[in-house]
Amino acid sequence: MKDSTLYLIRLGEISLKGLNRDSFEKRLKQNIKQKLKGYRTQVNRQKGRIFFEISNECPKETIELALGTTFGVVGYSRCLRCEKEISVIRETAKRLIAEEPFNKGVGTFKSIAKRADKSFPMTSYEIDCSLGEVVHEIYPEMTVDVKHPDLTIHCEIRDQAYLYTSPKPGPGGLPVSTAGKGMLLLSGGIDSPVAGYRMAQRGLKMDCIYFHAYPYTSDQALEKVKTLASLIAPYLQGTRLHVIPFTEAQLWIKQHSREDETTLMFRAAMMYVANAISKSQEGSCIVTGEALSQVASQTLESMAFTDSMSEQLVLRPLVGMDKQEIMNLAMKIGTYETSILPYEDCCVIFSPKHPLVHPDKSVEQEHYRAMAIEPLLEEAIKNTEIVDFGADGLTR
Ligand code: ATP
Ligand code: MG
Repeated sequence: MKDSTLYLIRLGEISLKGLNRDSFEKRLKQNIKQKLKGYRTQVNRQKGRIFFEISNECPKETIELALGTTFGVVGYSRCLRCEKEISVIRETAKRLIAEEPFNKGVGTFKSIAKRADKSFPMTSYEIDCSLGEVVHEIYPEMTVDVKHPDLTIHCEIRDQAYLYTSPKPGPGGLPVSTAGKGMLLLSGGIDSPVAGYRMAQRGLKMDCIYFHAYPYTSDQALEKVKTLASLIAPYLQGTRLHVIPFTEAQLWIKQHSREDETTLMFRAAMMYVANAISKSQEGSCIVTGEALSQVASQTLESMAFTDSMSEQLVLRPLVGMDKQEIMNLAMKIGTYETSILPYEDCCVIFSPKHPLVHPDKSVEQEHYRAMAIEPLLEEAIKNTEIVDFGADGLTR
């Protein structure tokens, strides 16, 4: 392809897939293309690798956002392709390290050659020695460190020779939409965006749902949730946020249930609405940011009660994680700063002073039914507001 740059994409777990590897790779290709829409691309799939030729009109930041946020990409690098002939390979390597300032010629490096084509007359070790020589000719001060090099230069002998330097890390995991679809309960807190990231990493496509209790929760709280949805949208390959007007339901629960039960009743009501909307969007599971024992509603008994109020499978990817680990991940994916903004979510304002910590499932189920809240919830579902986010994180 003319006026284009070649990128090599490394696949991890996908390469281990057996018969359905093809469908995983196809999905990965589609997901990357979705983020490069409007630019010419050409794709070539080879064992364990996908080669993307991308038009030079595409800004580098767009390419980095695309490859850095698409699950299934374990690492990527700009790459030069040439004839499988050692003199040509050496010339190409010179061009590569001249184009990509090789750490300005200081520090340590290592050459990593791989032969997919075993008929190539040199061994990997011989290729490494030859490329090491090339680097030394240009940067005499650089030294080889095979254990912990600052930089690496790679040469893969396949249908042609492919050369690249230190790959950038991708997010790993499996391509979104290879594992079905679910509904992420997205609050304004630290945990739920991370939960969404974690499930997307396993290939789950997700819509998001937010329960908004205006004016008890401010418009700023809703804006915060929208910002969080936009921040995780690239990882989710775009997402639809369903905003549920939840004030009437919250007030009904406050009036019709015992104070220590209100949180449990909120959660049951949320499950009812989330299930209905998930089903209408062809989803088949619910995802939350709960972690065992983090708060009263996250004890075994409380979670068992919530589960019993959901027809769809409830997934809690953070259930065994430490708060600090969750915060670290939130910082890594860029949601932390938004999550810690002060606007409170509805559960905080309506939460009881002494919530039931070890509820009896069947007793609570009975109390929930006695409230007869479902007509109100149906009304809330009808008044849902929808906001769509593209894979670039922007609203549509
Ligand atoms: P988070 O940090 O995600 O807000 P949390 O530690 O504050 O979680 P809870 O408030 O008990 O815990 O909420 C547990 C989970 O329930 C959240 O992770 C989220 O998935 C869901 N949730 C809570 N409140 C809402 C809401 N207003 N809208 C949508 N989902 C919610
Ligand atoms: Mg919260």
